Amino acid sequence: MKKLISILLVLVMLVCICAACSTAANGKPSIGCTIYKFDDTFMTSVRNTIAAEAKDASGNEIATVDIVDCQNSQPTCNDKIDMFITKKVSALAINMVDRTASGVIIDKAKAAKTPIVFFNREPLAEDMAKWDKVYYVGAHAEESGVMEGQMLIDYWKANPTMDTNKDGVMQYVLIKGEPGHQDSEARAKYSVETIEKAGIKTEQLAVDFANWDRVKGQEKMAAFLTSNSGKIEAVIACNDDMALGAIEALKAAGYFTADKFMPVVGVDATAPGLAAIKEGTLLGTAYNDGINQGKATFKLAYLLAKGEKPTKENVGYDIVDGKYVWVPYKGITKANMSEVPQ
Ligand code: BGC
Ligand code: CA
Repeated sequence: MKKLISILLVLVMLVCICAACSTAANGKPSIGCTIYKFDDTFMTSVRNTIAAEAKDASGNEIATVDIVDCQNSQPTCNDKIDMFITKKVSALAINMVDRTASGVIIDKAKAAKTPIVFFNREPLAEDMAKWDKVYYVGAHAEESGVMEGQMLIDYWKANPTMDTNKDGVMQYVLIKGEPGHQDSEARAKYSVETIEKAGIKTEQLAVDFANWDRVKGQEKMAAFLTSNSGKIEAVIACNDDMALGAIEALKAAGYFTADKFMPVVGVDATAPGLAAIKEGTLLGTAYNDGINQGKATFKLAYLLAKGEKPTKENVGYDIVDGKYVWVPYKGITKANMSEVPQ
């Protein structure tokens, strides 16, 4: 009888320990991960990296990662996060639809003691400050904006014919991502500011949002070409997909044949973006390193899931202000495109 009681006690203790660190039934830490929209070229590279990092070199799972699609709806995202919290996952890795809705998510995660790593869509600073087990992985988008601007400066200086109306002013159109997205706002601002700072006057002929989407980018560019026929000298797109859409519209309008060229810049260095650089239609892009963003996101979530405190040493990335990991961009043109890992 005594033996039976002690065995039972040990069993009860094991269950308690397991519940405390909320490991999955298989004993591995569990991570609940959301992606704002599976159908997004850049986020697909981040998502694939997170899934790959959950396995060791021999292909064995080191953590159970459940990655779900928010289908571009914040209410859907909230439901998925509630489900993860109910299931008692050991950590959350969250790509929001609406980054301004992060405060509520942090409150819920904190109440459930579930550490949370946001990525790609940055919560407001006041929300990040709500709890010490909240992290963010992203990139300083102003860097990419400066790179886009610099590519247009270089092209302008090397090719005087870019100034088609010979007024010394760069007439451009701007295709932004989404209203309120930190990357879209910063790229739009810093690309133009960089050109102006180099002493080149600019004139914005048109601006619109194309939701990071190739088809929408094509539609917006087609509209710009109609309303500003013959006046556009440069296209600044806030990501490659929209730049590629713009290139389609430009091709339909007779560009990229004989001597009719239009400098178009983007951000991400996706595979189709690089293919366009190679064919000579996309002038340049800024490599948005989804691989390192995915790796840092997984590593942070994994350590937090195991109850460990992330440090520069165990994460492998600098942690700024105790909660931010910033992955640098890299300017990419035809000359160095082989440096982008594929
Ligand atoms: C990328 C875009 C992507 C967006 C999603 C940005 O950093 O450059 O391609 O659509 O993130 O949030
Ligand atoms: Ca001009």
